[in-house]
Amino acid sequence: MIDLRSDTVTKPTEAMRRAMASAEVGDDVYGEDPTMNLLEARAAQIFGKEAAVWTPTGSMANTIGLKVNTTHGDEIICEARAHIQDWEFSMAGWFCGCLLRTIETDDGILTWDRIEPKLRPDGPHCSPTTLVELENTHNMHGGTVYPVATIGRICDEAHDRGLKVHMDGARVFNAAAAIDVPVAEITAKVDTVSVCLSKGLGAPAGSLLLGRADTVAKARRMRKRLGGGMRQVGILAAAGLIALEDIPTLLPADHENARLIADRVSEIPGVSIDPAKVTTNIVIFDIAGTGANPAAVSQELKRRGVIINGIGGTRMRAVTHYDVNRADCEEACEILAEVLRPN
Ligand SMILES: *Cc1c(COP(=O)(O)O)cnc(C)c1O
Repeated sequence: MIDLRSDTVTKPTEAMRRAMASAEVGDDVYGEDPTMNLLEARAAQIFGKEAAVWTPTGSMANTIGLKVNTTHGDEIICEARAHIQDWEFSMAGWFCGCLLRTIETDDGILTWDRIEPKLRPDGPHCSPTTLVELENTHNMHGGTVYPVATIGRICDEAHDRGLKVHMDGARVFNAAAAIDVPVAEITAKVDTVSVCLSKGLGAPAGSLLLGRADTVAKARRMRKRLGGGMRQVGILAAAGLIALEDIPTLLPADHENARLIADRVSEIPGVSIDPAKVTTNIVIFDIAGTGANPAAVSQELKRRGVIINGIGGTRMRAVTHYDVNRADCEEACEILAEVLRPN
């Protein structure tokens, strides 16, 4: 199977499996897991933040990120197709007690000029806006990347008004690879950032939330509250360390493969996509012009050994990662072209 559903399907590398088997472990709720302590310290260093806390999932890292930056009843601004809005089971409402005020964009990238009019005015009639959330790269807009200057301006203006900024950096290493800038530079001004170790970076599980030491201390209590305080997690941290240190250098290859898919798919009659917009590992294309139905296309693709799913309407999404190589991507495109060929 050539599995292009998501970069979450990556399996741990041989090096990860070896490191996991021999990892030194302890009880992490007591702060005594040496491998986890190393992972969190190393991550803080790489991101240039004071501290980091590991979470079992990216959704939990984001939920905690929203929680530690807000008070019950606040408003949070995010893009309309943000992961926190579409795919995290309303945890902003359910756990944080906050309302998401969303902004529609063409490419997933917010700017301060779009954010400012959405701030709720101070006074007796409105709940305060206290947090801006940015998703980098933006999943449902096709892995789009924030320019560093855009993040800087948003953070400066937000901070001037006493607002915080959280980055959903599930794929921030893809953003860093795409613009060839260290992650620390991308996240320098945000208050908190989450990052997934288990997507393109390949760890079997785990994300991190990074920020100031006092914020991360608070985050640790929230993690326990959510049932995310785990014990001998050094086994997972050992894989996480390799994901963090070694795998980012492989991401440019994923991006080249995504670009190849975008180019090939754009040549299929009836498919619409702007290949120039594909700069990371996510390829979203629209098959409306083929008259085909995404569910039926998925089913036929799967029968022929390729997994690509619909993401609503007539759009479909292919995501590249280290478990598919260039030849796999070429083959997947040939099969897709056959499946979509008018008969
Ligand atoms: C995958 C993802 C997450 C976290 O997902 P989990 O499956 O909970 O690890 C968060 N944000 C974005 C943009 C994602 O793509």
